[in-house]
Amino acid sequence: MGRFQGSATLGVALAGMVLASPALAADCPDNPDALGTSRTITVDPAALARIGDMQYRQAMPLGPKEVVLTFDDGPAPPMTNRVLEILQSECVKATFFLIGRNARAFPAIVQQIANDGHTVANHTQNHPFATMSPGRCIQEIENGYRSIAAALESTGKKPAPFFRFPGLKTTPALENYLRGRGISAMSTDFLADDWYRRITPDGILAKALARLEARGGSGMMLLHDVKPGTALILPQLLKELKERGYSIVHMMPAEGAATMIAEAPAATAASAEAPKARSAKRRQSVLAQHRRARIKKQETANLAEAKPTGRYWPRIIEKDSGGNP
Ligand SMILES: [Zn+2]
Repeated sequence: MGRFQGSATLGVALAGMVLASPALAADCPDNPDALGTSRTITVDPAALARIGDMQYRQAMPLGPKEVVLTFDDGPAPPMTNRVLEILQSECVKATFFLIGRNARAFPAIVQQIANDGHTVANHTQNHPFATMSPGRCIQEIENGYRSIAAALESTGKKPAPFFRFPGLKTTPALENYLRGRGISAMSTDFLADDWYRRITPDGILAKALARLEARGGSGMMLLHDVKPGTALILPQLLKELKERGYSIVHMMPAEGAATMIAEAPAATAASAEAPKARSAKRRQSVLAQHRRARIKKQETANLAEAKPTGRYWPRIIEKDSGGNP
């Protein structure tokens, strides 16, 4: 696997943006035939704000036959647990874009994801799919980070400054918001359609491999750890990747690029505006007032034209609305 490490092309093309680290040994003592993880790639959001050539100009910068695995929508037992077992058995590291609500419900799985050495990233608090005001979208981003950070607290680890929009539905203004927060907007390079209701596990496997090969044999793949079909075919997918000569690259934030977790709105307003003597009712009213004012301010500022329009909506998703990617 070392043959792909330290790609000179990558270093030249992306000097200062993405640093290729020396290859990690695919140290997998319990499984000598494991696919393993060939190396890590560190992403600095300040230099690389938008990644994934399904929507953006910039694909995940990889060498030939290198794959970054990403999983969305978890954690959710028992599927996420199964996915973690499979990855562990192959010593493969991935990135998980978690839903904050799920992270609150299953913090032990979030902790396991982090303790297994995977990258933990954000996919909003509630995975909203309908069009929302920009203010609400920002709340979803920030609340997602708060929930994931809370779940990770006992591990001493922080969520990565990587964010993926639900359904990949984004706007330039929201991307600018992320950029201002030091967070990379992570689209994907390709999909395996594993959220479709009617797709079979074999169909997921076939799409994942065909699309990887069609794009020249490298890229960031989007899967869903909450889908039983995905967990079912994952061992076969990893086996096929190994047999076809692919290697896995682990995406991590650049050093010092940890996500700043914004203070919870309730705490901010309460400390500034609600003296202890006030009744709980009065406090709630003040909080609501501040929330409304904040949302209105956000909506009328430079995000005024940020109403999600779906103009970045991938064609593939338009064709089949059978699920929620
Ligand atoms: Zn999703």
